[in-house]
Amino acid sequence: MVLIFSAPSGAGKSTLVQHLLAHRSDLEFSISATTRAPRGQEQDGKEYYFISVDEFKKRIEQGAFVEYEQVYKDCYYGTLRSEIQRITDKGHHVVFDIDVKGGANLKRLFGDQALALFIAPPSLDELRRRLVGRATDTPEKIEERLAKAQLEMQDAPLFDHIIVNDQLEQAKAQTLQLVHDFLD
Ligand code: 5GP
Repeated sequence: MVLIFSAPSGAGKSTLVQHLLAHRSDLEFSISATTRAPRGQEQDGKEYYFISVDEFKKRIEQGAFVEYEQVYKDCYYGTLRSEIQRITDKGHHVVFDIDVKGGANLKRLFGDQALALFIAPPSLDELRRRLVGRATDTPEKIEERLAKAQLEMQDAPLFDHIIVNDQLEQAKAQTLQLVHDFLD
């Protein structure tokens, strides 16, 4: 089984994914490949496989990706077939933290084998406050992410459930419950 988490950037998706992973040892995070530079404490092979644009393009030609997107200008992100294999070989369910387009693609691909969750911010104003507060991106990057978020909200109906991340504790509990209902 696979669990898909998608959201506009800054909606709190990663926090919910980390909470879920900490509570269930039968799940494993799918580490994507990306061409963007590591942020803060990020490590190669933990949050992402950090690779060059040339390497990424080579992998595309080899058909190594189940899906990939150019999420931002010059920033490619993709799910490697080998990564899904690595996780399913261990008998674990796969957890994807992936952009909205990629999430919708994976849901189409995996069908009933997938639980696709869309994490929504309470509002776009609140999303702006969170992105500014996070202070990991430049003002230009934040504007780019906000413009994208507006479009991404329109694809929420393609997912199985929408979790509005207003109260974090409530959103965490709702996430655990939905996964429990799906898997157990
Ligand atoms: P960030 O740069 O903030 O880590 O990620 C930016 C966006 O790319 C997030 O929405 C994240 O979920 C998405 N992303 C991460 N890995 C993948 C992937 O393998 N494929 C796609 N399509 N998006 C991804």
